[in-house]
Amino acid sequence: RTVYVNGEYLPENEAKISIFDRAFLMADGVYEVTSVLDGKLIDFEGHRVRLERSLRELDMPKPEAFDDLLEIHRELVRINDIEEGMIYLQITRGAPDDRDFVFPDPETTPATLVLFTQNKPGLANNPTAQKGIKVISIEDARWGRRDIKTVQLLYPSMGKMMAKKAGADDAWMVQDGFVTEGTSNNAYFIKGNTIVTRALSNDILHGITRAAVLRFAAEAQMQVEERNFTIEEAKQADEAFITSASTFVMPVVDIDGTAIGTGKPGNRALRLREIYLEESRKAAV
Ligand code: PLP
Repeated sequence: RTVYVNGEYLPENEAKISIFDRAFLMADGVYEVTSVLDGKLIDFEGHRVRLERSLRELDMPKPEAFDDLLEIHRELVRINDIEEGMIYLQITRGAPDDRDFVFPDPETTPATLVLFTQNKPGLANNPTAQKGIKVISIEDARWGRRDIKTVQLLYPSMGKMMAKKAGADDAWMVQDGFVTEGTSNNAYFIKGNTIVTRALSNDILHGITRAAVLRFAAEAQMQVEERNFTIEEAKQADEAFITSASTFVMPVVDIDGTAIGTGKPGNRALRLREIYLEESRKAAV
């Protein structure tokens, strides 16, 4: 596969990053994952805007090529011949001469920019969507700025392992009794014709897929309530689902061993998935 590192397109085994890079030493980096369908980028502008916000919130310099991100994404899709898959992008605060907690001067330490593709044929027709996934609940032990998409993914990674050990697919995290989000996705339940999901704040990532799905709710004749909810309330719902750039809308059929609704993917979640895929494909760049 050909990857992009600081202005160069290289075979992946020739790409090099300094051991002093701040993302390697301090998780001082931000990222985005954009999906590709029909060789085109889904919701690119949403990801670009969120990336810019992540950089601003962390006072991280923009890489020189920031304005060329669309072209770089498209070039990698072209070179690697991606029809369906993902593009991972990471920006770090660069590699100063030595390890130091103090931020380096951006004049002497430019940001590091890395992108690579992940080929995932069948991403849109993922058979898991017809089966649904099982989640467990775990404590949310992450830091307090989950609205910034940083590469501090150790706890989410541990959460996935806890789920795996429990025979589930993912974990929903709970803070002060209320669900925040999934390890790498936003969390929802449906009761009647209402979609319920936690409101935006510093407690959750402002999902790009979340924004789109809530916009499309009206098209599915559904209402939206953005508010706190408990695992107990979600267990008693008619349906549940998650959203993210790589899973789109994915039905949840089991929470902590309790079947949700019929225990099969719900019609409304599947309809939202259909609408999301159709509309975002139309708007893809
Ligand atoms: N919440 C968390 C913690 C995530 O890591 C992600 C995606 O990686 C999401 C939500 C979903 O965001 P998006 O729809 O922009 O992919």
